[in-house]
Amino acid sequence: MTTGVFFHETFKGKEWLIIGDKFRNFPGVMKNALKLPQVKLFSPEKVSEELLLKIHTPEFVQNLNQAWYCDGACYSVGGCVEATERILSGELKNALVFTVAAGHHAERDSAWGGTYASCAGPAFKNAREKFGPKRFAILDTDRHHGNGTRDIFLDDDDVLHVCFCNWDRIEGNGSKVCINIAYPNTDKAYMEKVRQEFIPRVKEFKPHMILHNLGHDTCQLDYGDIGLTQEFYPWLVKEIRECAEEICRGRYVVLTHGGKRADVAEYIFPAIVVILAR
Ligand SMILES: [Zn+2]
Ligand SMILES: [Zn+2]
Repeated sequence: MTTGVFFHETFKGKEWLIIGDKFRNFPGVMKNALKLPQVKLFSPEKVSEELLLKIHTPEFVQNLNQAWYCDGACYSVGGCVEATERILSGELKNALVFTVAAGHHAERDSAWGGTYASCAGPAFKNAREKFGPKRFAILDTDRHHGNGTRDIFLDDDDVLHVCFCNWDRIEGNGSKVCINIAYPNTDKAYMEKVRQEFIPRVKEFKPHMILHNLGHDTCQLDYGDIGLTQEFYPWLVKEIRECAEEICRGRYVVLTHGGKRADVAEYIFPAIVVILAR
């Protein structure tokens, strides 16, 4: 089965808000991983305005259309939509989707924090329109609360959202969970939290696919530093990949999220492709 890697050339050479030009050496730095026979590189299409309008308000989309980062956001969302569709159709097993200017801080009618369009909202909407009712689990291990994801799926009991952030909170009939992550932290202690708080919940929830907002802003010396090392992120993906094998035939999308350190991105994402392709 194939691992998809979704990257658009427009993601490099620009100072994106919050994350900077961390993808400047991509996809070149992944060339060995991309040579694996079971890995396929995709250049995504932009998400359609029609699909965006099924999640965001018309005023929100109008503002996005006028912003300099609109193309980056629309190619990012498009990659997530396409990866989800190709996984649910059985063409791909799993995927790594690169994103800029889009992600978990985009609510229906407002956005902040470097992400100006929802990735999961359009992806799940499109998948359900094409394949019927589907249950999705979202794991968010970025440093910051995924307010946009929470806003969009709060009333959707068929989406489990487990968000590792700054407080303990359970809402939405138990399908929306926040876990307080202590500072400072360690690779081992964080992994223990994932094993305690995400794995049992997702096994009970039985989603058709797991989507993972993987921020590396939690890494040492990055803007959300809680003391993790770069070794943590491939380890985490290995763990979630194994869980996905057990509960949803390996259907797993990793979305890049926060983190500004290009050297960390260049270390973890090639390693993550290799792990997904195993
Ligand atoms: Zn963050
Ligand atoms: Zn949260």
